[in-house]
Amino acid sequence: MLLKGKKALIMGVANKRSIAWGIATCFHREGAELAFTYQNERLRENVAELVAELPGGENIPLLPCDVTSDDQITEVFHELAERWGELHVLVHSLAYAEKEDLNRAFVDISRRGFGIALEISAYSLIPVARRAKPLMEKAGGGSIMTLTYNAVERVVPSYNVMAVAKAALECEVRYLAAELGPSNIRVNAISAGPLKTLAASAVRGLSRFRDIVEEKAPLRRNITQEEVGDVAVFLASDLSRAVTGNTIFVDSGFHIMGLVD
Ligand code: NAD
Repeated sequence: MLLKGKKALIMGVANKRSIAWGIATCFHREGAELAFTYQNERLRENVAELVAELPGGENIPLLPCDVTSDDQITEVFHELAERWGELHVLVHSLAYAEKEDLNRAFVDISRRGFGIALEISAYSLIPVARRAKPLMEKAGGGSIMTLTYNAVERVVPSYNVMAVAKAALECEVRYLAAELGPSNIRVNAISAGPLKTLAASAVRGLSRFRDIVEEKAPLRRNITQEEVGDVAVFLASDLSRAVTGNTIFVDSGFHIMGLVD
């Protein structure tokens, strides 16, 4: 029960394969009190059905939040302030890019598509951290985490505009960590290996990436949602109380390889 007494907001569940759902089930196992956001009415039902499976699920807050809307972000934290008065953990597990901007050549990424990918996948961490800050200060500190992918340091075909968004996101993690540290708020990223999810299906060649990881990663296997969830438990818990501004890899060690043959 590493998270007993912790209140955690999970952003980014679309279905049971979502990394955010893997994290949520691990948090639940460790005794955290949860709240969820969902992107739109179409996804609300999915999230509601999943949450209903958790013991006590009927009392778990489900709040609408499209991160392109400042009003919706504000409303989420207003609601949490009313219900909980404090917040210990925030999981930001969301991203979006137009499919064409993932599939076309990097030099052809559109101005519009660049803006959309960066706004949703990277900028959004800033306004949610801003709103979480006062609630985490009330809790005496907190842990914010986001999800990234290591197409940042090395080129991964088809990741294109999302790689740029993840580079911005990882940079934000460091700036936010530096600024929020004096309030005892920690900010970290988890860099996950390829998992078959809705968002990942937009990236051409994901199955091939998974085959390569299985053949060439130091651990010779792909990762699971639960393995990401367990690292998220560590980051949410007091075990990681001196860990901030990091990107932690959950990728079977693939990122250390310079060349695979
Ligand atoms: P997913 O499709 O299950 O989750 C993506 C989430 O983003 C969805 O819940 C969707 O509703 C949300 N979202 C998109 N646009 C939004 C908006 N405007 N407002 C609010 N929410 C919005 O896929 P996932 O793979 O679980 O993705 C979660 C995170 O993990 C993403 O940041 C992704 O880049 C990252 N990641 C995924 C992989 C992978 O291989 N699946 C690997 C590394 C990192």
